[in-house]
Amino acid sequence: MKPDDFEIVELGDPRLRQVARAVDVADLTSALAYADILQYWMDQRGGVGIAAPQIGVPLQMMIIASRPNARYPDAPAMAPLLMINPEPQNLSETHTALWEGCLSVPGLRGKVTRPEGLDVRFYDRTGQSRLLELTGFPARIFLHEYDHLIGKTFVDRVASPQDLVSEKVYLQQIIAAPSP
Ligand SMILES: [Zn+2]
Repeated sequence: MKPDDFEIVELGDPRLRQVARAVDVADLTSALAYADILQYWMDQRGGVGIAAPQIGVPLQMMIIASRPNARYPDAPAMAPLLMINPEPQNLSETHTALWEGCLSVPGLRGKVTRPEGLDVRFYDRTGQSRLLELTGFPARIFLHEYDHLIGKTFVDRVASPQDLVSEKVYLQQIIAAPSP
């Protein structure tokens, strides 16, 4: 199994609409091989997160990897974290709106309102169950990637079609504009 055996699945492909199934945590051998492929494609495309359905693998796995980069210059830095069978809990009642992009939706940005923080129960790469509190940008990445596990993308989450813009307009008119 090597990265070139896979590709980033894009919007309209039915594989992005599948609901992912749980990973068998008793044997993580194949899950960890998929994790390497996910990491490869995330790095290759400069993403800050990726979920297994995005490489056509319908398993409940994702990597979140908040870091400053060309697409998200203000992101806090964290080591890439593999999350297996993640379960969001205690979603905060405070919501924030943020423009999101997606490796599976090239050329488009969408303004999406999501809870500001949450707790996540998940299995790590050693098969250990963990509970982690996420807030701000890492929480945002998690919720975006979690959507991929239930067959959704940010396009499904915008409040109105006017909250979808091209990457060019986003770069030239939205991030260039002063914050309100
Ligand atoms: Zn995405």
